[in-house]
Amino acid sequence: MAKTAPLPTTIVNVGYRSTNYWVVSAGASRLLVDLGWPGTMGVMRANLHRMGVPLSEIRYGLATHYHIDHAGLAQECKQAGVPLLVLAPQVDAIPLMKTWVKPADGYVEIGLHDNTIISLAQSRAFLERLGIAGEILATPGHSDDSVSLLLDDGSAFTGDLTHRALVTDGDAVVTAASWKLLADRGAKCIYPGHGPIHLIGEQTDLRLARQTQE
Ligand SMILES: [Zn+2]
Repeated sequence: MAKTAPLPTTIVNVGYRSTNYWVVSAGASRLLVDLGWPGTMGVMRANLHRMGVPLSEIRYGLATHYHIDHAGLAQECKQAGVPLLVLAPQVDAIPLMKTWVKPADGYVEIGLHDNTIISLAQSRAFLERLGIAGEILATPGHSDDSVSLLLDDGSAFTGDLTHRALVTDGDAVVTAASWKLLADRGAKCIYPGHGPIHLIGEQTDLRLARQTQE
């Protein structure tokens, strides 16, 4: 009997305000990578709808790191039925989110006791249960809690990991090690938190890559 072929993985961008939010789907099993600005659930819902992604099919939300443009909407997503997937190296960064915001931002503080917390080592098996072949790697440099989702097809979701051509002295060594890890594990096509999709190591239009990284 023929083996059931795995569902192809598809990627769409539901981003706004200079920030990319990626939906990685294996059929109707979906993962939202980066979670929107605070108070923008209406925009997120509209963009998901426009791109044909039912909110109810998003199994988890994953923030590449806990900065306001990547995780500011996390609690509102949870309230809308999307559980938050947190990697162990990110746990301590979550309470710091409230220190980055102003009252006018409308940030809803992320609850600490109802998240799905896994280790990096558990990520492959966890993703497999969603039908997604890949792993989550620690890729510090922009921030200590930064992680990247790397699919087995070479697609890498790197958040704000600084483009190699833009690295400044302070985080250069750590950032270079993160890029090396990604390359060694097979990363080919980079889906960044800001700016265009590009091949790893490619000199993209740096004006775009330089777009606000928070
Ligand atoms: Zn950031």
